Amino acid sequence: DHCLTEADPEVRAIIDHEKNRQFKSLELIASENFTSRAVMEAVGSCLTNKYSEGLPGKRYYGGNEYIDELEILCQQRALAAFHLDGKNWGVNVQPLSGSPANFEVYTALLSPHDRIMGLDLPHGGHLSHGFMTPKRRVSGTSIYFESMPYRLDESTGLIDYDMLEKTATLFRPKIIIVGASAYPRDFDYPRVRKIADAVGAFLMMDMAHISGLVAASVLADPFEYCDVVTTTTHKSLRGPRGGMIFFKKDPVLGVDLESAINNAVFPGLQGGPHNHTIGGLAVCLKHAQSPEFKAYQGQVVSNCKALANRLIELGYKLVSGGSDNHLVLVDLRPLGLDGARVEKILDMASITLNKNSVPGDKSALVPGGIRIGTPAMTTRGFNEKEFTETADLIHEGVQITLKAKKSAQGSKLQDFMKFIESPEFSLKDSVAD
Ligand code: PLP
Repeated sequence: DHCLTEADPEVRAIIDHEKNRQFKSLELIASENFTSRAVMEAVGSCLTNKYSEGLPGKRYYGGNEYIDELEILCQQRALAAFHLDGKNWGVNVQPLSGSPANFEVYTALLSPHDRIMGLDLPHGGHLSHGFMTPKRRVSGTSIYFESMPYRLDESTGLIDYDMLEKTATLFRPKIIIVGASAYPRDFDYPRVRKIADAVGAFLMMDMAHISGLVAASVLADPFEYCDVVTTTTHKSLRGPRGGMIFFKKDPVLGVDLESAINNAVFPGLQGGPHNHTIGGLAVCLKHAQSPEFKAYQGQVVSNCKALANRLIELGYKLVSGGSDNHLVLVDLRPLGLDGARVEKILDMASITLNKNSVPGDKSALVPGGIRIGTPAMTTRGFNEKEFTETADLIHEGVQITLKAKKSAQGSKLQDFMKFIESPEFSLKDSVAD
């Protein structure tokens, strides 16, 4: 058997280039991280060769004695990492990623066309929480279920819990989804629990972005209030790409969550689990119980505060005025700029972040903000000082973008750009709507 360099130099070269890019850039995408060598070793192991449909002890294939041992170990570590006992909570570690994990919960708890409420995507929610536009049901969640998103209070940048309560009382969703992809604050779990109870809905938390911070107890604990908690494993948690679903063991609203969720994962929506991922996840979840992990997550939050403070000093408007977690959302509209151009300019300087919509945006194609996250560079050893300097570099990128925009004023090129960004153009020709 040949090693990769001999067997396929083309793929080897692409991997080397990507490794070099990761090594040489400032990685500020809030949903990304660098996992450990130990996790990557498990992910690149012979575990990828094995079929093991079913759950430990109840497989549809032979030869699973070690895979059973691995999955049970991974489940035990998952519960321990989130301070849960196996009596009240169970976990399924087989979801292939975050979006499938969420759809598996909906499949378990809902019937087609049941009503759901999640945070609207342009206000920080995730596609898999039911995003749709006036013209199109974009996500599978909004195709198969009736979605009525809740939103932020645009004046504060905080979730409008009053409006959520009012809408839920009228809309009567069967499930309320908490959690976000671009929300810089923590969640008011007691408040949403009350709303869910009042309307008889399941309460689900998608902690994908913040699961590392939750494991380290630097943010509030969703398990105290929610019925189901989903997560990806590759963001702040620093594991391999994958997903998990935690569920209460006792029936909720008359439903046995354990069997409903396990059946929705397999045979409902998946076949064989990715055992190499489960191996990597087990390694990650051992690390997640260590004092170094707790210190790391504390540093992620301190770094984010340093970044936010410096940006505020430099005059930037942050959505919600700051951050409690691992990310900030910068509103660039007061400068007459959008996130797309700033993302591009910074990308040319090897600073990687993403354009992001901010509350009040007119166009999803040219969003008015950028999202900046601290988990990845904290893994690489950045502290407050480096993140303060990072804010200065971003500021220079913004200044350069502003200058470029000014010097283009009056040019035909700018007229053309105005045209393609106008609402008429996007309405007529956009595929996104
Ligand atoms: N949930 C949230 C809150 C997310 O931010 C994301 C991804 O960014 C997902 C779910 C989906 O995860 P995946 O990309 O692994 O499907």
